[in-house]
Amino acid sequence: MSTSGSSGIADGLSRVREQIAAACARSGRAPESVRLIAVCKTFGADAVRQVLDHGQLAFGENYVQEAKGKWPELKADHPRAELHLIGPLQSNKAREAVALFDVIQSLDRPSLAKALARQCESQGRRPAMFVQVNIGSEPQKAGVAPEDTDAFLDSCRDVHGLNVTGLMCIPPAGEPPEPHFDHLAKIAARNGLTELSMGMSGDFPAAIEHGATYVRVGSAIFGNRSYPAAQ
Ligand SMILES: *Cc1c(COP(=O)(O)O)cnc(C)c1O
Repeated sequence: MSTSGSSGIADGLSRVREQIAAACARSGRAPESVRLIAVCKTFGADAVRQVLDHGQLAFGENYVQEAKGKWPELKADHPRAELHLIGPLQSNKAREAVALFDVIQSLDRPSLAKALARQCESQGRRPAMFVQVNIGSEPQKAGVAPEDTDAFLDSCRDVHGLNVTGLMCIPPAGEPPEPHFDHLAKIAARNGLTELSMGMSGDFPAAIEHGATYVRVGSAIFGNRSYPAAQ
């Protein structure tokens, strides 16, 4: 892997890759069982290109509008880049989201399932979907309640025919995340889902030790954002 000493972003990416490898080694997992999603919200195309140039292919964006401005050109230059929507999605943006994203990780309510299904049908596209679970049952946070997740998954798959492959969560701030990671893994296992999107800059090594197959890492690669993440 090439790194340029002058680039903070390239250094951040190599450090994160090393930490992923170390967490895999500690937990007896194959390094290729964990995929890094570089979360580039608020960062411009130049920053994204530095990461693409180091062979990173999966990227996460929170806002449809922002991704629309950045990605058509980046994807034209890097056709293998894979774009994940990790922020809340309004149903009236379902059309743009299905057109632009390869994976939608914020599926969290029946009305959105319906809107996405309609768009998949009319566009002939089938992005992979993750159901977002509000794993800490926080009133202000997006996501399906843990106790409602089994039924919601059934309806996404059976009623709407969506290509649901995994679960995503953001554990409550200020609590140890491990019990929440284990809880998400348990819900996924009993529903026959193999993909677990959990772990951010502050806790991705722990998430890997608790079964994450995707980690979503922003600031540890790109540096601090000048405005905060939307939840
Ligand atoms: C912003 C964001 C991330 C990345 O957060 P960092 O702490 O910068 O790694 C991951 N997941 C979601 C859902 C986010 O909104």
